[in-house]
Amino acid sequence: MEYSHRYYAYPSGEVAERLKHQLDAHRQLYNHVRWDYENSPEDDKPSEYDQNNKLPEWKQQWPVFSELHSKAAQATVARFHRNLSSLKKLKTNGHNVGWLKRQAPSDYRSVTYNQSGFDLDEKRGHDKYAYVRFSKVGWVKIRYSRPIPDHATIKEATFKKERTGEWFVTLSLETDEEHTPAKPDVVSLDASNSVGIDLGILNYIHTSDGKTVDRLNLEDEYERLRREQRKLSRKDHGSRNYEKQRETVAKVKRKIRRKVLDYQHKLTTWLAKKYDAVFVEDLNVVGMLQGDRNARNKQDAAWRQFITLLEYKGDLYGTHVVQVEARGTTKECAKCGVETAKPIWVREHSCPACEFETERDANAAMNVLQRGFSELGLGWPESTPVETVTATDTADFQRVSASHVVETGSLPS
Ligand SMILES: [Zn+2]
Repeated sequence: MEYSHRYYAYPSGEVAERLKHQLDAHRQLYNHVRWDYENSPEDDKPSEYDQNNKLPEWKQQWPVFSELHSKAAQATVARFHRNLSSLKKLKTNGHNVGWLKRQAPSDYRSVTYNQSGFDLDEKRGHDKYAYVRFSKVGWVKIRYSRPIPDHATIKEATFKKERTGEWFVTLSLETDEEHTPAKPDVVSLDASNSVGIDLGILNYIHTSDGKTVDRLNLEDEYERLRREQRKLSRKDHGSRNYEKQRETVAKVKRKIRRKVLDYQHKLTTWLAKKYDAVFVEDLNVVGMLQGDRNARNKQDAAWRQFITLLEYKGDLYGTHVVQVEARGTTKECAKCGVETAKPIWVREHSCPACEFETERDANAAMNVLQRGFSELGLGWPESTPVETVTATDTADFQRVSASHVVETGSLPS
């Protein structure tokens, strides 16, 4: 499996200058690849392979390109073609897309070294630091917050300068099959080792075994963001003060993103370690949120990130992660299957057909659990899910605060 580790980087002044220089040379190469593609006849557009073959010639013609490590240059050519194919895909799906734009220095922020041209020295740094060497640049100090597992190989190394001015190094890792934990046999799954998750509106998640995990409280951070954005709106666009304030705004946004990411890491690790199977709603059909489109897009993006992390943790810890059809999970009765319309403000599930009563989100989570089982081709055991689940503790739901998760990295068992 493939995954990546991202590290804070602290290049010395001199090394930072060389990183910036490389960044700019790669940006020029990217723009040149784009130019070359754009100016080729319609019936004879160059492939990635064709353009890689042009690299030696370009290096002779433009000295700036000869300063690039060859594998890194190929990775930049590959980046253009990757962007190109995502653009084509969007077009095929009926989106009104333009053409790939030229990259300005503020747009082009990272360089990838593929397979060679980099080294990691874990012993060179003291305490929690290590060093990564990039060919044509030198050694870059990183905060070595997550060691590379013994059985993993580093496929790629990327350095990046964020809008905030901070540097990062990302290492893409690959582990071979034999070191990837096997997922439990599907037939061993049952209501005691599996869980359904309702992606909540009021609460962050709700589990089919009765846990409600609260949303992170980011009120202070959002208040600060609004304040800094107001300040930004009063500055002269393009002035030095404007640029400085723009960086401050970017930093606050980054801080919020980092907090959310940290929270999601902890939740997904806990879920993947605790259960053999985790079922979530398929996001493409979640579309359940009320309110303005912008808030909804943000929420969708957060859920997408949550599910991506969950899938990654599933591979890491050997846990099944399955997305199920989301339509109707709220309306349907988890006990008898009868559908009842429920406006968003009705927080209880009370079935007119079978009289089953529980919380709205708990009912949805139980439905997700059942759908997960049928998705895996498993019938439900003798008893109905509700009986199995209520056997634990749906009667008294356990509320878990976000701060508990943040501090301990786990949920009470
Ligand atoms: Zn019912």
